Amino acid sequence: MLVLEDLHAGYGLSAVLHGTSLEVKPGTVVALIGANGAGKTTTMRVASGLLRPARGRVLLDGKPVQGLDASRIARLGLAHSPEGRKVFGPLSVEDNLLLGAYRRLPRFLGFRSRAAPDLDRVYDLFPRLRERRRQAAGTLSGGEQQMLAIGRALMARPKVMLLDEPSMGLAPVIVQEVFRTIRRLKEEGMTMLLVEQFAKAALEVADHAYVMERGRIAIEGTPAELARDPRVLAAYLG
Ligand code: ATP
Repeated sequence: MLVLEDLHAGYGLSAVLHGTSLEVKPGTVVALIGANGAGKTTTMRVASGLLRPARGRVLLDGKPVQGLDASRIARLGLAHSPEGRKVFGPLSVEDNLLLGAYRRLPRFLGFRSRAAPDLDRVYDLFPRLRERRRQAAGTLSGGEQQMLAIGRALMARPKVMLLDEPSMGLAPVIVQEVFRTIRRLKEEGMTMLLVEQFAKAALEVADHAYVMERGRIAIEGTPAELARDPRVLAAYLG
């Protein structure tokens, strides 16, 4: 579904990715873990077209998409829920969600009614968002904003979702709620690449995992294999 091949990328003169490769098979959850600054967010930004790689390929459904605009890649089925959530604070919860469907549905008459089934699905997944749908997104709690960011990504009916640190800055009980949602999306067959500091939780939900160190994949395997690896135990699960 999503294949990253030998990606090299960076910011100006500073190279961050030095040949990153990974694969997310349809219907699976893949976890990408690693220390701060290893290049996980950069990997996601290259996958979704926010950053152009100097070298390497991004294949979505077998088709190369590296070099295309982020909006084009989004239309082809990749949704990115960025680190730090980035909801549109002054807009209502519902308008934030509708923005997620904006690229998929042409903006003529009936946009709202055509997006209604998707809104319903997101509200079923996150009843709290339904209660607060007229509220400005900026006034939501951190956990609610995270749910909104995931909900907005879902509105695009993506084939693959990239979730960057969905637990960041959240209280433990809210983190559990976010992971319950990820598990439920997985049960519905959603394909996801998950970047997470909270390695234990990520490995519990993932089918396959990669550990990134200094811009390269250092270790990969099933969660069970990684959980037995002394390097992973010492650095991420200790
Ligand atoms: P974290 O877990 O802390 O989010 P990460 O693995 O996601 O880390 P990246 O955010 O990909 O790491 O950052 C990798 C490196 O690239 C870091 O050294 C960071 O300082 C640098 N970097 C990230 N964004 C920029 C930018 N816009 N301009 C310059 N350097 C950047």
